[in-house]
Amino acid sequence: MLRTQNEFLNESVNNGNDLIYPEIFRHSEAEGFFTDGSRGLKIQDVADPSKHLFMPLQKHTDIVVVLRKGSSLPTPSTVADAVITDRDDIITGVQSADCVPILVFDRKRLVTGSIHAGWRGTAKGILSSVLRQFFSEFKSDASDVLIAIGPSIRGCCYEVGEEVISAVISASGEGDYIYTQPTGGKHIDLSVANKLQALRMGVNPENIWISPDCTYCVSKYHSYRRAQKQNTVTTGRQGAFITLPSCGNAA
Ligand SMILES: [Zn+2]
Repeated sequence: MLRTQNEFLNESVNNGNDLIYPEIFRHSEAEGFFTDGSRGLKIQDVADPSKHLFMPLQKHTDIVVVLRKGSSLPTPSTVADAVITDRDDIITGVQSADCVPILVFDRKRLVTGSIHAGWRGTAKGILSSVLRQFFSEFKSDASDVLIAIGPSIRGCCYEVGEEVISAVISASGEGDYIYTQPTGGKHIDLSVANKLQALRMGVNPENIWISPDCTYCVSKYHSYRRAQKQNTVTTGRQGAFITLPSCGNAA
């Protein structure tokens, strides 16, 4: 089950020590971070409590919600797997437990994006769609775009069928992200596939950060596949959140 926005608002307090602040945002104005699943997170303890939190209802789509300045906030039942905003009064977020959480920031135009990309979203090119909207709706220049790709199940652990591999290749292009195992099975690294999508859209490689962690290997993360293997019925979710500084003005 996905967790609701209210759960992220009300969960037990996290002192912030377990949050992952990607290096790529260190000298930018965006406040973007990933949670690691080691304990609950009360989002408003680590972000401005006056801000709204918006997390879409994720359904492995390539639907992108754009929240422009002056627009009203959509309901939490709005189905989408990506959110883009230039509003500084909103924290946007996605949740995942093996799928790839991605945060995007245009440091010039001051626009943020949060993306949930499982294999279906990756195969539908959801990151490419988000970047296209940055370019068309907000006139972003690819050289200003910073991308943080959070913890997900990596090539070490993510065995998939040929249909997944061909679908992801058609969206991301050929690359060094598919590994044939001695048994003949194939593993895929969706983080790298998404990085390739960003590179193809013109984002500079030095502006892309990928978490080294595999959610399946590292026990502090929630992992859907690990839970399945252990016959655990439910698993929690990591969160990925981003917001602009409150004094932000679009360039
Ligand atoms: Zn692994």
